Amino acid sequence: MVRLFAAVPIPFDIAEALQRRQRGLPGARWRPIDALHITLAFYGEVVETRADDLAAELTRARVDPFELTLEGVGAFGDGHRNRAVWAGVAASGPLNILAGRCRAAGQRAGVIMESRDYRPHVTLAYLRAAEDDRVGAWMTGHNRLQSPPFRVDRFGLYASVLGGAGSHYTLEREYLL
Ligand code: ATP
Ligand code: MG
Repeated sequence: MVRLFAAVPIPFDIAEALQRRQRGLPGARWRPIDALHITLAFYGEVVETRADDLAAELTRARVDPFELTLEGVGAFGDGHRNRAVWAGVAASGPLNILAGRCRAAGQRAGVIMESRDYRPHVTLAYLRAAEDDRVGAWMTGHNRLQSPPFRVDRFGLYASVLGGAGSHYTLEREYLL
């Protein structure tokens, strides 16, 4: 089994600017710069043969290259605690279409997909026992985040290996738009 997701990688210069915001929040486990991404579809644990089918199906998910802008910050929680802080993504029709096609590729390959709303974001940190008021203060300090527009000309199929120091991602296959 392999744990898979499709994602748009964040270009290095944009990721560097995000990295400068990764401070000032005790309890945050900041994600490394090369792990910053926008998930398009999460497939979960998939058997290897199905992973090959998925990789092939994803060639049909391509859209034309498009521009994205990162905008604002936020937090995801589980009703009790904030679990992650992230940078937002300005509304993008092409991104939504690409995400929908990545989801459809999973279904065609026989992956059982969760039916939660698609909320594009770049996870900056997972939170371990961060105080809610510190999370609020960090968000207030960064809510004017606005990246320059950047061109999305590729996406990837990534494997995720969960580890003690946070998950590690490897690019299994790259799709040029
Ligand atoms: P960890 O789970 O160790 O905290 P992680 O969340 O980065 O680290 P994965 O759980 O493998 O690693 O997730 C890979 C990517 O898919 C992340 O961007 C994650 O936010 C996203 N993801 C995980 N589960 C789902 C899900 N059920 N629906 C949508 N996206 C998901
Ligand atoms: Mg996770």
